[in-house]
Amino acid sequence: MIRGNVGWRLVLFQPRRGSSMKPMYRSLRIATILAMLVALPFESAVVAQEPPAVIDIHVDLSDAPRRIFHARLSMPVQPGSLDLLYPKWLPGEHGPTGPITDLVGLNFSADGKTISWRRDPQEMFAFQVNIPAGVTQLDIKLDYLPPSASGQFTAGAATSDRVAVMSWNALLLYPAGKSAHEIMYRPSLTLPAGWGFGTALVESRREGDEIHFATVSLATLVDSPVSAGAHHRVLDLTGKAAVRHRLHLVADSEEALDIKPETEQAFRNLVAEGIALFGSYHYSKYDFLLTLSDHVQSFGLEHHESSDNRLPERTLVEEVRMNSRAGLLPHEFVHSWNAKYRRPEGLTRDNFQTPYQTDLLWVYEGLTSYLGLVLTSRSGLWTPEYAQDALARIAARLSNRPGRTWRPLIDTTRAAQILFGSPSAGSSWRRGVDFYDEGVLIWLEVDTLIRQLSKGRRSLDDFCRTFFGGESGLATVAPYAYADLVAALAEVAAHDWKGFFDSRIYSVQAEAPLNGITNSGWRLVYTGEPNLAQQDREETRELLNLSFSLGFSVSTKDNRVLDVLPGSPAAAGGLPAASTLVAVNGRRWTPEILQQAIVDAQQANEPIRLLVENAEFFSEVLVDYHAGKRHPHLERNDRKHDLLSKILAPRLH
Ligand SMILES: [Zn+2]
Repeated sequence: MIRGNVGWRLVLFQPRRGSSMKPMYRSLRIATILAMLVALPFESAVVAQEPPAVIDIHVDLSDAPRRIFHARLSMPVQPGSLDLLYPKWLPGEHGPTGPITDLVGLNFSADGKTISWRRDPQEMFAFQVNIPAGVTQLDIKLDYLPPSASGQFTAGAATSDRVAVMSWNALLLYPAGKSAHEIMYRPSLTLPAGWGFGTALVESRREGDEIHFATVSLATLVDSPVSAGAHHRVLDLTGKAAVRHRLHLVADSEEALDIKPETEQAFRNLVAEGIALFGSYHYSKYDFLLTLSDHVQSFGLEHHESSDNRLPERTLVEEVRMNSRAGLLPHEFVHSWNAKYRRPEGLTRDNFQTPYQTDLLWVYEGLTSYLGLVLTSRSGLWTPEYAQDALARIAARLSNRPGRTWRPLIDTTRAAQILFGSPSAGSSWRRGVDFYDEGVLIWLEVDTLIRQLSKGRRSLDDFCRTFFGGESGLATVAPYAYADLVAALAEVAAHDWKGFFDSRIYSVQAEAPLNGITNSGWRLVYTGEPNLAQQDREETRELLNLSFSLGFSVSTKDNRVLDVLPGSPAAAGGLPAASTLVAVNGRRWTPEILQQAIVDAQQANEPIRLLVENAEFFSEVLVDYHAGKRHPHLERNDRKHDLLSKILAPRLH
């Protein structure tokens, strides 16, 4: 097993130079040194190893519908000062998103007697307790209050009356100074009566209403969330794969589980196409968890042997919803290779407190976004035409992004932790986590370049098989640096890959990287015909996107102007972002009326008149635009080989 090569660094606890070392710091440092000394024999095969002490953790989700999760832990301890940590930096969330605000009801006791605790005065995620003489076991009780709306990723809404998604990191403390691969937990769980569940953990036994799982390391526990609910269904996606692949559906209604046979088949194809792409796999089994609820935050989080996918309730039964979210499971599946197995050194940590260095997210997320799009098409979750529209939408969005003129892509990766969750107003000038979408364009260019350089003999698929290859079956981590990536690409096709990435990622690029599209025999054009991917996205996200015509987008739910592109006709007319759109050409606005106004303006000289309310004040904005509807599409260039269709076509079925 390969471990992260970045050791435990107590950067958060180091006192400032010249300041006196407070007792807690001293104890932490001493504890760390002791832990390192104790850990040394583990590296040597000659010294007999003591079995690691196991921490029991029981989570009770009986009150999940009331948005309270309960936990009790039982931890082997020794008398003296004990420093305990609440996970802060969560893998895959790329920031310090541990939901510390909602950790409540904290109580420590030993032999039935309460033990007082205190929080570190500077580090909110660290606690200290003094273990009395003679005590060998510390009992901890705590609650986690999953929010109903706010919060990022797993810290967001995670429950309804019928479903709950539980991330163990929200419900545990761990002792400071040891690797998360060495601290062992014995997890168990209680669910509301009649609920089913899915998780990558291995069930060992049932005792009354308690479900017990096999003992795992802290790293594996945090990597193995539980999705549970009143309506539950398991689909087997294994097909010809050598190990078990399952899809656990949990939903707010029985009807929501009624997956279409063609969607189920496409998920099976996804497993087969994924393994065909990489040639091997790095898990002993794989569990897709899919929670379907309108009251749970929609997103996906990658894990090594599972993925935590959360989507609106009717995603599987309504075509528009399914199309607009079809890329989620392929993206998270790819992450098992590109994120969990091969992981940038800066994102490889053996604890949950050391900050990440997120520069290589253009590989971690960018390459995953590209391969996710490719697999969504190869598996049949999208038609190739739909995948082309999805690609055109991405290319157009990045081509109309004035923030490119000041912010290089590398700064969106480095600053990811402050860009996730940034507001929509100003997003085209600020840029956001653009490394996802821009990664699609850049890695498409890499794919087409490899194909051209090798005269069609090789492709990015070959890179995937070498860089993400190795022995199948074990969930191991192989960290890499930028130089490793460049060297691996050069082995597939000789080229100045460092120069290639340096210019596209590390320097300001006012123009979006569209060479991949042109290399693959297509070009980006704008027409009056709707883009299917954009249309479905607008419908499910309740917005109208006029970024490529008038230059703004507006919510159809609350009429808020989401963003205005600097330099666009709407910006020239003075439309403020975050204002409320009231009327178009003197009539209360609807998406249909606004789109008709764009069509009518083609034959007129007068500007389109928008009435907006901007923080209590009303004003009329004149938008001088007469070029009609503009939706992005890819158009075939017959003078070049159609590489794109080849890339998007299934390898297997
Ligand atoms: Zn991702």
